[in-house]
Amino acid sequence: GASTESYRRRHEITVTGDDVPQPFTSFESTGFPPEIIREVYSAGFSAPTPIQAQSWPVALQSRDIVAIAKTGSGKTLGYLIPGFIHLKRIRNNPQMGPTVLVLSPTRELATQIQDEAVKFGRSSRLSCTCLYGGAPKGPQLRDLDRGADIVVATPGRLNDILEMRRVSLRQVSYLVLDEADRMLDMGFEPQIRKIVKEVPARRQTLMYTATWPKEVRKIAADLLVNPVQVNIGNVD
Ligand code: ADP
Ligand code: MG
Repeated sequence: GASTESYRRRHEITVTGDDVPQPFTSFESTGFPPEIIREVYSAGFSAPTPIQAQSWPVALQSRDIVAIAKTGSGKTLGYLIPGFIHLKRIRNNPQMGPTVLVLSPTRELATQIQDEAVKFGRSSRLSCTCLYGGAPKGPQLRDLDRGADIVVATPGRLNDILEMRRVSLRQVSYLVLDEADRMLDMGFEPQIRKIVKEVPARRQTLMYTATWPKEVRKIAADLLVNPVQVNIGNVD
């Protein structure tokens, strides 16, 4: 309706796709469980950011998403909170492998995502493990053995651990490619494609990127099914 139009215009949101749901302009309108709403308020947030407002309702419909928004726009919770809700619905045994897999380009970013997952997922009792290079594998393998609902990983280290057959991705049904443009710039495309081969085709795939060059469009076309695209601001 008119309020959706004006919210999108004010926040420079453009969408493409069939029947894109209207944005959640407040935390109350998300229908998130009360413990999650409490967490976002206690973090000091007063409203969803534009990328959250428009990508949350799409993600909650279990649809694939391409979200294009600049750094600092709140993309992490954009995919993490719908991931938490997906986990509550699916209720897999984390000992059998993760249900939510987030690929991230660097150790530093992967660690930040894990911190956010721990902070906002605590009340939902979710377990999260982080896998990255430049550190011994032993502790990461022990964390995996304890079971993790969510794995946040850099593509190189996850591939090493897959080759050792120390983790199974057969339960993954919510796959996030965060900072897709940076992962491709860093040359991770072959590793990403190998990882995705281990993830069942029946899954939800979410791609978050700050830019939208042709390499990113190509991998999105290969890995996502009929995605809704959400852009914030100008896209280059
Ligand atoms: P991006 O991945 O788009 O670069 P982040 O997810 O890292 O952005 O978020 C940037 C900062 O904004 C983080 O400190 C995060 O905790 C904060 N943030 C996330 N959501 C909100 C919100 N709704 N309101 C205010 N700050 C938020
Ligand atoms: Mg980010």
